[in-house]
Amino acid sequence: MEKLTVKDEKTSYDIVWTEHPFDNLKGRGVIVTDKNLFKIYKELLANRDVIVIEPGEGSKSMATAGFIVDQLLERQLRRGDYVAAFGGGVVGDLVGFVASIYKRGCRYYQIPTSLIAMVDSSIGGKTAVNHSDYKNVVGTFYSPQKVMINLKFLETLPKEEWRNGSGEVLKYAFLDEHVFGIVMEREAIDWPKLIRACLKVKKRYIEADFYDNGLRQHLNLGHTYGHAIERYEGISHGIAVAYGIGMIIKEHQIVDLEETFEMLSNRLGIKIIRQYDSEILKPYVIQDKKNQGDRLVFVVPEDIGKIKIVEVLNEI
Ligand code: NAD
Repeated sequence: MEKLTVKDEKTSYDIVWTEHPFDNLKGRGVIVTDKNLFKIYKELLANRDVIVIEPGEGSKSMATAGFIVDQLLERQLRRGDYVAAFGGGVVGDLVGFVASIYKRGCRYYQIPTSLIAMVDSSIGGKTAVNHSDYKNVVGTFYSPQKVMINLKFLETLPKEEWRNGSGEVLKYAFLDEHVFGIVMEREAIDWPKLIRACLKVKKRYIEADFYDNGLRQHLNLGHTYGHAIERYEGISHGIAVAYGIGMIIKEHQIVDLEETFEMLSNRLGIKIIRQYDSEILKPYVIQDKKNQGDRLVFVVPEDIGKIKIVEVLNEI
C-alpha cells in the first residue's frame, strides 16, 4: 500500500505499510512492548533489545514511564537514539510520552499492533499517561519519526480487542462519508482499505489543527462520555467511545442518526447492550479537558460527515 505522509506543525513523517517494520528502525535504540506481545512475537523480537511492560491501561502511568526512563539510562541511550513502541495504544502513548521527555526528547517510532493503534493512536503525536485517576492528564504533543504498519499483526489480536478497536472505527464512520461508505459497501468489510481511510481522516485533522485548539476536537466524538464510562466502569477505550457516541446522539435528539448508529454498530460487531445514566457520569464529564470555564463541551454529530461543537452551562 502506498505510504501516507503527515505534515504537522512541528515536523513531517511517513506512515508505511511493510512486512518488516523493524527493518525501518535506524541507528541505535530499544523496543518497548507489553508482556502479551512479547510472548506472541518472541521470535521476531529475538536478538533485539526489548523493554517489556505489563499489558493494560494500568501501565499508562508515571510509574511505568519512570521505569522505562531508568531502563534507558541503564542502556546509556542518547538523544539521537530511538525508542520504538511495538504494541497497542497503551504502549504507543506511553513510549511517545517517555520519548518526549527523555533528555528533552529522543526519536521514537510507532509499530502499531492493535486495531485502535492502527486506525488512530499511532499517528497524531498525542502522548499521555494517566495520573491520580485522571485519564491522559499528563502528556505532550510529540510526533514519531515514522509509523510502520504490518496488518498481519492483527491476526493475533483477540476478538474482544477487535470490537474495542471498532469503537474508534465507528467514530471515523461518523466523521467521514468515505469511511462510512467502506463500512457499508460490501458484505465482508475490506479492513485494509478501511484502516487506511481512517488514517487519512485523522491525518487531515492533525494537519489542520495539530495542537487541538479547534477542528481536531471532532476526533473526540464519543470521548466525553466515553472517557467517563471508561473511568466509571473500567471498560475498554473503544467500546466506551462507541457508548459515548450513542449517548450523545440520544441526548441531543439527533433522531435520524439513532438508526445509523445501530446499523454501524452491528456492521462493526460492537454490542451495545446497556444504557448509562449521564447524571451518574457527570462527576467525570466535568473533568473533561475540552471544557471551557463554566461550560461543558460536547462533540455532536448532526449527520455523517457533519459535526458540531456544543457548549452547555455546567449547573453542578
Ligand atoms: P492496549 O495497548 O492495551 O492493547 C489492548 C490489548 O491487546 C492488550 O492486552 C495488548 O497486549 C493486546 N494486543 C495488542 N496488539 C495485539 C496483537 N497484535 N496480538 C495480540 N494481542 C495484542 O490498548 P489499545 O486498545 O490498543 O489502545 C487503547 C489506548 O489507546 C488507550 O489508553 C487510549 O487512551 C489510547 N488512545 C490514544 C490515542 C492517541 O491519539 N494518542 C487515540 C486513541 C486511543
